[in-house]
Amino acid sequence: MRNRKILLSENEIPDKWYNIMADMPNKPLPPLNPGTMEPIGPEALAPLFPMALIEQEVSPEKWIEIPDEVRDIYTLWRPTPLYRAYGLEKVLDTPAKIYYKYEGGSPSGSHKPNTAVPQAYYSAKEGVKKITTETGAGQWGSALSFACNHFGMECDVYMVKVSYDSKPYRKIMMNTWGANVYASPTDRTEAGRKILAEHPDSPGSLGIAISEAIEMAAGDPETKYALGSVLNHVKLHQTIIGQEAVVQMEKAGDMPDIVIAPFGGGSNFAGLSFPFLQKNFTEGTKIRCIASEPASCPKLTRGVFRYDFGDTIGMTPLLPMYTLGHNFVPAPIHAGGLRYHGAGVIVSQLLKDGLIEAASHNNPEVFEAGITFARAEGIIPAPEATHGIATAVAEAKKCKEEGVSKTILFNLCGHGNFDMKAYQDYFEGKIEDHELTTDEINASLAELTTPEID
Ligand SMILES: *Cc1c(COP(=O)(O)O)cnc(C)c1O
Repeated sequence: MRNRKILLSENEIPDKWYNIMADMPNKPLPPLNPGTMEPIGPEALAPLFPMALIEQEVSPEKWIEIPDEVRDIYTLWRPTPLYRAYGLEKVLDTPAKIYYKYEGGSPSGSHKPNTAVPQAYYSAKEGVKKITTETGAGQWGSALSFACNHFGMECDVYMVKVSYDSKPYRKIMMNTWGANVYASPTDRTEAGRKILAEHPDSPGSLGIAISEAIEMAAGDPETKYALGSVLNHVKLHQTIIGQEAVVQMEKAGDMPDIVIAPFGGGSNFAGLSFPFLQKNFTEGTKIRCIASEPASCPKLTRGVFRYDFGDTIGMTPLLPMYTLGHNFVPAPIHAGGLRYHGAGVIVSQLLKDGLIEAASHNNPEVFEAGITFARAEGIIPAPEATHGIATAVAEAKKCKEEGVSKTILFNLCGHGNFDMKAYQDYFEGKIEDHELTTDEINASLAELTTPEID
């Protein structure tokens, strides 16, 4: 029989997270205080995050121990399987070998619990009573709800309105784990009220929801805030994905030429690719790592590298990143988790230095790729995950045209079982290509007053 699934045993769950900052040739530039334009130290983050996570955010250590309590919960769904996509290879009639790492088997159905669990663990250990957060498609909110419930903390989730309306069962899922869920923008916060005054029909955005969740946490000493992407410690936690995948590829007697993952803020891309980049840094391999983003929110392929706020209102420090401008509100595509104006700092620096690549795909193309995948492999992908599939399909087709066999690995970072509305819209012909003009991008960037980076 062919070996379709490459599995690991529970004792092969990594016991350390990999911190790529130790190996990066150019370290990321520091965050700036928007008032003084001076670099800020980690202490500025103390009102929002537990100390353990702030230490990880700036740690120079290459390997960071995973607490036993966290590894213990990881065993609920980890190690995750790595699949050889025989079905997809066949329908594409490609000489490429395609593999995917499947993170959809977690309790909430994506890679997000990999970081929700340690974030909740460190918060609980430091006496936090409540965590606030934002969620786009609901994936992060569900993961954090699950993790907070496990450690006996309250969880308040600000869910982007367009997703709140289109994914009602995500809300119920969060409620099942005991969380409170609010459609953002809300009238509970100043940030929300300000947006609603200007745009009463605002579909919301991750940037707006982040402003709301931060405002609620900053005003209460027993409440902390948690972010499901973008930050260094989030990417760090996700590196268990790639560490497992490296071992699984070795077991398969193979190694990828190309590693692909969808890109929202960069956490699942970082999670899969960083351990392979480590091989590039330390063993001289030349594995290409490609981040896949939607054409309607193309910060990596059409944005600029400069200092910008992480949220819409401007409450965060200024971060050196690829951005479309913090006021950019992407078209309400179903891949809610990819509707973020900026990119994480580490990934931005790697892209600037030419150490990773980026690709973008339009909306109809990713749905076609997602449906091709579902029919060939069975699993219905999350709309976010279809972007990575589209890049994998494009690379596999290139192999066919050029008559070369390459090994492709992509991250199937979540299932789409709660995203039937998205698939329904596709079958009803309602999926549009949101052509984004250069003028629109320039108009958003023109509103930036933050410093450019040479
Ligand atoms: C959140 C999410 C994303 C985007 O976030 P990243 O931090 O870029 O990984 C992509 N896919 C799924 C399934 C998600 O839940």
